[in-house]
Amino acid sequence: VLLVEDDRTLLTSLSITLRAAGYRVDRAGTAAQALATAVAEPPDLVVLDLGLPDRDGGEVIRQLRGWSDVPIVVLSGRSDSGDKVTALDAGADDYVTKPFAPDEVLARLRAAARRRLEGEDRPRVAVGSAVVDLAARTVTVAGPPSSAVRLTPTEWALLELLLRNPGRLVSRRELVTRVWGEDHREDSDALRVYLARLRRKLEPDPARPRYLLTEPGMGYRFRP
Ligand code: CA
Repeated sequence: VLLVEDDRTLLTSLSITLRAAGYRVDRAGTAAQALATAVAEPPDLVVLDLGLPDRDGGEVIRQLRGWSDVPIVVLSGRSDSGDKVTALDAGADDYVTKPFAPDEVLARLRAAARRRLEGEDRPRVAVGSAVVDLAARTVTVAGPPSSAVRLTPTEWALLELLLRNPGRLVSRRELVTRVWGEDHREDSDALRVYLARLRRKLEPDPARPRYLLTEPGMGYRFRP
């Protein structure tokens, strides 16, 4: 794990936590150190503080993403969700808000690593009692009798992006960009409408979604 944090106390306590969990830890206190270490010793996981003394953590993410798809979990000390959204848009996998329990960081890291290992090729995904086959583009809801659910191309695009990133918070901008294109303005209303439709088709109780979750102000997350 490459652990990037300028707060010495936190850096030390997180190192202890990670090492106790069996990880080998490289430490960096600045963005410059982080990038140099990542190049010299490419990490399998990155824990990254957003507020670094020399450069913004988001800049570190953008640079890393230029050549690496390493899972990145962001530590954010700010209450403002804007920085987290920026970090997610830059390519972070998940975030933890300070103050946090060390176990929470471990859990997010494990989840991010597992998602990366599972990879992109999981054609069949269960959403409650519905089975979504991403390869055949079919949705079957368990019966009796079992029934097929029809989705529009836009619904498919949204659902597929969420399902291919199980557990990950996908930002609104990423959803809009990937579904409607780069130059489309962020349109939260359209997203809300489409998510509501998907929930009506897939969730056992659409008013109380259990699988297609809203993270207010941030985006959406598929909980497997
Ligand atoms: Ca900091």
